[in-house]
Amino acid sequence: MAVSIVSTDDPADVRRALNLIGGIDRFVKSGDRVVIKPNICAGKPSDTGAVTDPAVVLEVCKVVSECGGQPVVCESPIYPFPSSRVFRRAGYDDFENRYGYPLLDIDSSPSKRVRIPEGVAIDHAVISEEVLKCDVLINVPVLKTHLQTTVSLGLKNLKGVVVGKQKHLIHLSGLNEGIVDLNTLVKSHITIIDGIIGMEGGGGPTNGRPVRMNVIVASDNVVEADSTGVRIMGGDPKAVEHIRLAADRGLGVLDGFDIYGAGLEAVSRKLDLPKRPDFNRMLISGMAIRIWDAFRRPAMKVLRGEQVERRPRLGELVIDHDLCDGCRLCLEACPVGALSFTERLECDRKTCLLCFCCAEVCPKGALSKET
Ligand code: SF4
Ligand code: SF4
Repeated sequence: MAVSIVSTDDPADVRRALNLIGGIDRFVKSGDRVVIKPNICAGKPSDTGAVTDPAVVLEVCKVVSECGGQPVVCESPIYPFPSSRVFRRAGYDDFENRYGYPLLDIDSSPSKRVRIPEGVAIDHAVISEEVLKCDVLINVPVLKTHLQTTVSLGLKNLKGVVVGKQKHLIHLSGLNEGIVDLNTLVKSHITIIDGIIGMEGGGGPTNGRPVRMNVIVASDNVVEADSTGVRIMGGDPKAVEHIRLAADRGLGVLDGFDIYGAGLEAVSRKLDLPKRPDFNRMLISGMAIRIWDAFRRPAMKVLRGEQVERRPRLGELVIDHDLCDGCRLCLEACPVGALSFTERLECDRKTCLLCFCCAEVCPKGALSKET
């Protein structure tokens, strides 16, 4: 197992990164059907850091074709975004017409309900048949943060091989273990992290701040690629639950592997990573707000005749009503119908599962997690 790091702002340097881990022909043979899975979770341009740069994916397609492989670029974006619009807005429009590389909309293509024998949180998933049948899977995530899983790299990117709304099952059953379950079933033969423009902050995966990082990482092991990605972001892979769980379950190691190319020090930068929930702080904050709700706030309401809202507790969904434009996409994304919109967006806190599917789809960044 090996990892390469290339310090660059040129997408063509995907070739250098691959050569440093033995070259593409170590993995792809002539006639192989090769699924390329970028992260195109939303219809945003790649300079936002939310999606994999199409120029990086194009280079991967070219490298695969040159050694006789048949590339197909596959994605199922965050529900309810439609793939066709997401491909277009993220700049993938000319892949088919100009270069002849097919784009496969997983949500409207054949899929299969498959058992996950090693599943801990989920024991089945509905997955694209193209992905299940391919000879080689090349996972091409972008280097970015995620409000629930701290980072979204290679392991997390495989959630996009699950069809549309079926992804909710993973959120409802335990996101971190569910991501690892998926990775026990679907193997990434190569992981290439596009870190030319990454993302930081708690707005990730779609509404964080873009950061120019000028780096490409390649590996034949997804856990080792992700561990390296986290270190490049200035974090500790042991502190990222799904990566640690993947290592605990034998999918790779967090350190001790060979790194070729640029050193970590040359490309690392301390990014603003979303914090892990601190359960003690959440408990104390929850108790304090309950006391406030029970005594002071109703009293103030009576005295002043004010409409006083309950403050969100740590880890709860926060709605910024000033940013919300009422598009209602979040209502479709919520798996349990906790959101409603009459005069403005409201969340039924008793129903809300804190899955944050709604925050992932909000185009205005109006939904976030109380920290
Ligand atoms: S919170 Fe976001 S997704 Fe929901 S209605 Fe407002 S703008 Fe739309
Ligand atoms: S309202 Fe709650 S349950 Fe619904 S999508 Fe948002 S975080 Fe998840």
